[in-house]
Amino acid sequence: MGFPSDLTIARDAALTPPQEIAEQMGIGSHLLEPYGESVTKVKLEAADELAHRPRARYVVVTAVTPTPLGEGKTTVTVGLGQGLNRIGKTATIAVRQPSMGPTFGIKGGAAGGGYSQVVPMETLNLHLTGDMHAVTAAHNLLSAMVDNHLHHGNQLGLDPHNITWRRVLDVNDRALRNIVVGLGSRADGIPRQTGFDITAASEVMALLALATSRADLRAKLGRIVVGYTREGDPVTAEQLDAAGSMAVLLREALKPNLLQTLENTPVLVHTGPFGNIATGNSSIVADQIGLRSGDFLVTEAGFGADMGAERFFNIKCRLSGESPDAAVVVATVRALKTHSGKYTVVAGKPLPEEMLAENPDDVHAGADNLRKQIENCRIHGVSPIVAINAFPGDHPSEHDAIREIAADAGARSALCTGFTDGGAGMTELAEAVDAAAAEDSSYAPLYPDHATLREKIETVASRVYGADGVDYSSQASSQLDAYEKAGFGQLPVCIAKTHLSISSDPSLRGAPTGWRLPVREVRASAGAGFVYPICGEMRTMPGLGAQPAATRIDIDEHGEITGLG
Ligand code: ADP
Ligand code: MG
Repeated sequence: MGFPSDLTIARDAALTPPQEIAEQMGIGSHLLEPYGESVTKVKLEAADELAHRPRARYVVVTAVTPTPLGEGKTTVTVGLGQGLNRIGKTATIAVRQPSMGPTFGIKGGAAGGGYSQVVPMETLNLHLTGDMHAVTAAHNLLSAMVDNHLHHGNQLGLDPHNITWRRVLDVNDRALRNIVVGLGSRADGIPRQTGFDITAASEVMALLALATSRADLRAKLGRIVVGYTREGDPVTAEQLDAAGSMAVLLREALKPNLLQTLENTPVLVHTGPFGNIATGNSSIVADQIGLRSGDFLVTEAGFGADMGAERFFNIKCRLSGESPDAAVVVATVRALKTHSGKYTVVAGKPLPEEMLAENPDDVHAGADNLRKQIENCRIHGVSPIVAINAFPGDHPSEHDAIREIAADAGARSALCTGFTDGGAGMTELAEAVDAAAAEDSSYAPLYPDHATLREKIETVASRVYGADGVDYSSQASSQLDAYEKAGFGQLPVCIAKTHLSISSDPSLRGAPTGWRLPVREVRASAGAGFVYPICGEMRTMPGLGAQPAATRIDIDEHGEITGLG
């Protein structure tokens, strides 16, 4: 018999009642709002009630630049939480809620893998407690109020050709990328072109993840810019009187969801912002609770260390005021072999045959990427630990190659077999993280608030991406000037570029040098609180492939789901 599927393993899990999981975290049942048998929401008051407890060590899990298959950050995050338990530490895990786009698209489930999973897996991947739908509802309420405002005379003088607020749905549907609304008679609204993004790309999602309290959520919603007047002045959700209702729709979604791992380690699952145009990190409010609920809080940041971790350090931690104690950099044999430049890995296809042969030299040939991503943690003052995520078919000599690269860079490393062995396969990493987190952290964001937007972009481009400089299109230049004038200059930047290279060219492997970052356009997420320069094509509404996971997912007469993950 082969290795069981994620769904089979997840279904055999012995779940502990959520009240008991919460109790392990020091959270009493008066702070819970149960959703069914195995999930509960945690009230925001928990953070205040736990404030007197010692602060947990804060650990972020990041990675080398991934192949399109993903290198196992969620799997290692979940495994590490379980591994910390095995060495006698209490740990809470904080991850994003999976979007249903990938669930029915290419990935089929995003709860970790093997014996390092979040459960109940079906609930996690399908609707959970409805937070995604609440974000969709709040976002689309504002869209409706924008079109309604145009219909009823447009007193704020919105330029119908410069409305940036679109609509969202939690599905991969390319046919909705560009649409015309308002067709029909005069009574049916003003015709104009617009479109849909996936809910994970909604500014409301980014904002929910970065809100530090109910009041902050309400204020951030008010600052959302929906478009501009003919004179170029921003029009906000507050001016449309929409922000209060949006906050009402989000009142439950602001509360983190508590689930557990296969080994009953607490997992806060909360928010799911995109990793390219947004921060790709789970919420601040979940971390506020998790940071008071045990010895460690382990959280995942999307994509490689140049992407999610950079935003974790420069946006999330800047806004929350929390300081990380260690960064785990997940590395795999397949990713480093790909960074040698000799192989191409394609999503949805098996690895090329030649990649499977024992070849530590190929791993060494891809070392530049790992070295750079280690440095990308260090430049923020945070100690890196390399997690070697072992895949079936890897060769021990190739794992040794990763250890050597880490040791040469002065970083700790640990072999991780959490996928096949659960927490028992993660104790080496847990010990290494414990040792690294006990050292003094000198975390600091890379640039001050008062630097100009151009200085911020140039700092990230040169220090994190290794670019020689930044080239702005004339459009990007005038947008930057306008944002500085509008008072958005003090915001951090969230550079939207490919996650498949440290550079802005997805075909460049390793740690590219001798290139310049081209900024085509700059947008402001004034509500969420960042400005995002766009480098290259960014998809905000994915499409489905020829054989999407949705064609394999089914349910039988007993209610058992098949084909998920
Ligand atoms: P990320 O969070 O970095 O995108 P995931 O943890 O979601 O990565 O893992 C990507 C895919 O690889 C998932 O399907 C997961 O089950 C699988 N995977 C992760 N680690 C391993 C491993 N060590 N062995 C086999 N499969 C793995
Ligand atoms: Mg992940």
